Amino acid sequence: MTNGTDSESRKLLKRLRDVMAEQSAGQARLDAIVTLIASSMQAEVCSIYLFRDADTLELCATEGLNKEAVHITRMRLGEGLVGRVARKGRVVNTANAPAAKGFRYMPETGEEVFSSFLGVPVQRLGEKLGVLVVQSREARTFSDDEVYALEVVAMVLAEMTELGAFTSDNAAMALRHTQPVLIRGGVGQEGVAEGHIWLHEPRVVVTNPIGEDPETERKRLNDAIETLRISVDDMLSATDVTADKDQREVLEAYRMFTRSRSWIRRMEEDIARGLSAEAAVEKEQSTARARMEEVPDAYLRERLSDLDDLSNRLLRILTGQGKDTGAEMPENPVLVARNIGPAELLDYGRSKLKGIILEQGSVGSHAAIVARAWAIPLIIHADGITTEALNGDHVMVDGEQGLVHLRPDDNVSSAFRDKIAMQADAQKRYASLRDQPAQAKCGAVIELTMNAGLIADLPSLAPSGAEGVGLFRTELQFLVRSSVPRRGELANVYARVMDAAQGKRVVFRTLDIGSDKVLPYMKREDEPNPALGWRAIRVGLDKPGVMRMQIQALIRAANGRPLTVMFPFVAQFDEYTAARDHVLKELEREEKLGHVLPSKVEIGAMLETPSLAFAPRQFFEMCDFISIGGNDLKQFFFAADRENERVRRRYDVLNVSFLTFLEHIINRCRDTGTRVSYCGEDAGRPVEAVCFAAMGLRSLSMRPASIGPVKSLIRRVNLDDAKAVIDDARGSGAQSVRGAVMDWLRTVP
Ligand code: PEP
Ligand code: MG
Repeated sequence: MTNGTDSESRKLLKRLRDVMAEQSAGQARLDAIVTLIASSMQAEVCSIYLFRDADTLELCATEGLNKEAVHITRMRLGEGLVGRVARKGRVVNTANAPAAKGFRYMPETGEEVFSSFLGVPVQRLGEKLGVLVVQSREARTFSDDEVYALEVVAMVLAEMTELGAFTSDNAAMALRHTQPVLIRGGVGQEGVAEGHIWLHEPRVVVTNPIGEDPETERKRLNDAIETLRISVDDMLSATDVTADKDQREVLEAYRMFTRSRSWIRRMEEDIARGLSAEAAVEKEQSTARARMEEVPDAYLRERLSDLDDLSNRLLRILTGQGKDTGAEMPENPVLVARNIGPAELLDYGRSKLKGIILEQGSVGSHAAIVARAWAIPLIIHADGITTEALNGDHVMVDGEQGLVHLRPDDNVSSAFRDKIAMQADAQKRYASLRDQPAQAKCGAVIELTMNAGLIADLPSLAPSGAEGVGLFRTELQFLVRSSVPRRGELANVYARVMDAAQGKRVVFRTLDIGSDKVLPYMKREDEPNPALGWRAIRVGLDKPGVMRMQIQALIRAANGRPLTVMFPFVAQFDEYTAARDHVLKELEREEKLGHVLPSKVEIGAMLETPSLAFAPRQFFEMCDFISIGGNDLKQFFFAADRENERVRRRYDVLNVSFLTFLEHIINRCRDTGTRVSYCGEDAGRPVEAVCFAAMGLRSLSMRPASIGPVKSLIRRVNLDDAKAVIDDARGSGAQSVRGAVMDWLRTVP
């Protein structure tokens, strides 16, 4: 690159800034800009296309094409060369546009006489804003230098668009982040909520995309990188060597990037072209984000996402916009984040948040467990939410359908409020059933208990009408700390849980880690299939220290009260006997130490692997109870990863094979008189719950919010009728009984 082109480019950016400084309307500014660019690049044509809606681009200003085509010519995303630039987020540079792949002839523009075409995306941090095009009569490919110069200009245009410099009445030029947007995501946790956006990481606003003096900007960039380097080195030295391998790997990658000559050189080149230091960081970040969408390799994608995170840190250093931007949390906050860990989420506290929307996230993540415990809606995979939403924006979260209505218009708002009101009515109805048993018309009574994982869950026990805690997941106390919790701390938590349960039975499940639940302080081997790997009781038995400590804490917490302990992920009989022996030994040991023993001890197993359904009879006899962990059992039964969105919902739990398998487990427990319940998520879905009860289950454990709806439906039906419908469907060769059961339910008064 020559100094000549550098200064040309800087001159152009400075003239752009002058245009921006003029008190003119959005359209006049755009018109002036295309004229400037065309003359500076010695091209006959310069045009700007902006998005009118998510799928349509509109010609908003042109120098060289027919002016009458402005605001008339439109194309869909992917249509024509302009649409192709927008869709791919990549440059198209061709000497012979009419012959190029995807060319579309737009007669109203008069562009057929222009042979060369260079289009660059106008995008900001992965958000597509439009396309900037130059064209010329002469058939030539634009040089790398020219492409680069146009990209730099496009970057400045993106920042200006974001800042509202081109706003007008026209839809394509409306002020950004003001229009209603509907985002379709996935359901992480059901429920509906209305509130205002609160960004976990507020967007950095770059108000000065154009640099005054390249030397000053280069120095600012280098100083900021030095600050960043020091902070990454500090983080690395603060991370002890035994820490989680993944965490170290990320930090090592950060360190590598802060020393990456090519990354820094690219940003310096951007600065030489006239960008400010922060605009240069953002330009490279935008390019990396666009690449991220296309890289199929998971490892590379992760590294690009590290670079993204690092760029954010650099931007915060450069702009001085820390996490604390001085913004006040709005009323009824709905949290928006790319992703969030359980500890950070718990920091927000239960009472405050009305809902959570994540750009990434997964149903089995710990954030989802916390959202579930708080009974607030969680939307995952909400594409674009972190770029589209601004702090304080009005939002309606539909956790039933996985929809986010951002800045909804009046029609949407009122329909949504009707929905909330209907839910509130239903809640009232459920509340009136709170002290009634879940007794079906045939007389069968189903025990409904709740799943919990935090002390904060326990206040839901009484209002939900739960008859106890059928599953207390003990992982969260381990997951939210940076080191293994101490026995005393755990005993204290468990005692508080029992206090809050006021004598109702609480089934404590011992630590279920591994697979998706990774402890930050646990050294971890890379496993090819973590869900089938070293997890739960396998870890507990191989390294019994933590399991024994947990059992001691439980015995001490019970302090003379009844105690119920359950082991997760048992795959064969001897694992259960070994775990049970630990409990018996600890009881002996605690007694010798002078501690008061529980008045009664029940020991049970989760049935989460198909193998256990075929265990020897003695296993069932030895278990005081069995709880079917349907979330895991289903994934192994159908060989469909519960974490993988593509297959997670592929198989119906009311599939005839699965129901028949359940029947087998229920019969085995019946033969040995072993108490059996179902504590996977499906137990909390009313139709599924009725089918499980019809198959013979008499105890179901679920989220507190599900108890009302499940009880209400059970009380309306006769389980013998339900069983007859299921049997008929099974006999008819149906794959799932759902259709038949739904048809029958419609006839139930
Ligand atoms: C299950 O697998 O069904 C279960 C309840 O356990 P978790 O969801 O914690 O794996
Ligand atoms: Mg499980």
